[in-house]
Amino acid sequence: MDGVLFDIDDTLVDLEQAMGHTLQAIPDPALSHLGDDDWVRYKALYTTDPQRHYDRFLAGELTFEEQRVHRVRHARAGFTPEPFLGRVAEAWVRSYEQMLPQHFRAYEDVVPLLDALDARGVPYGAVSNNVHDYQRAKLDRAGLQRIAVLVGIDTVGVAKPDPAIYREGARLIGTAPERTLYVGDNRLVDAEGACSAGLVGVWLDRAGRGEERGTDSGTTTGVLAEGASEVPRIAGLPAVLQFLPPVR
Ligand SMILES: [Mg+2]
Repeated sequence: MDGVLFDIDDTLVDLEQAMGHTLQAIPDPALSHLGDDDWVRYKALYTTDPQRHYDRFLAGELTFEEQRVHRVRHARAGFTPEPFLGRVAEAWVRSYEQMLPQHFRAYEDVVPLLDALDARGVPYGAVSNNVHDYQRAKLDRAGLQRIAVLVGIDTVGVAKPDPAIYREGARLIGTAPERTLYVGDNRLVDAEGACSAGLVGVWLDRAGRGEERGTDSGTTTGVLAEGASEVPRIAGLPAVLQFLPPVR
């Protein structure tokens, strides 16, 4: 491989943790009765977005802020009868927007990998399903200013898994799509989507979800559920180096 492109959220930046810290830090009297297990379930409802409000944002049906409000309203409804409307919702959104960026952190294996890519002269960039400027600020906040190439959904006017967005990333780092690795935590949208676009998609399965489903272990290739494409699966970013030429 000649170059590497990365997804951002939950691949380079631990967004799930940032969301969790933020949700629990926002003052909300209606949730003051929640115990530890409740908080875990509440945060999971928000972060996993079972009603797919983020997809509606990507489809242009909701604004970024609206998808956020819908998500927290759904999560909250499981724990309090208090409505999430008007000033309560406005104040919550303001707090969330202020607090969330303070929790953006890169995973510990990101900088060592970027160091290794730099040492080998391998170009890299990010391709993300959010708008460019928001993700630029997120990378910078997480200490990843060195990732100079960033393609957002407003860069080419489409979102993953549209092939054009991955291919624009390859174009910007100057590598042929078929010689470009795309690494992300979402098997379908990242790994399989990139493969369909002609790149080499790799599924970053930090939590070992592939193994939970009783699939392959011990190799880098995950044998997925019946009907799913087979894509390389890695458990952490250091494994990206195995796809690159050895250092001479
Ligand atoms: Mg992601």
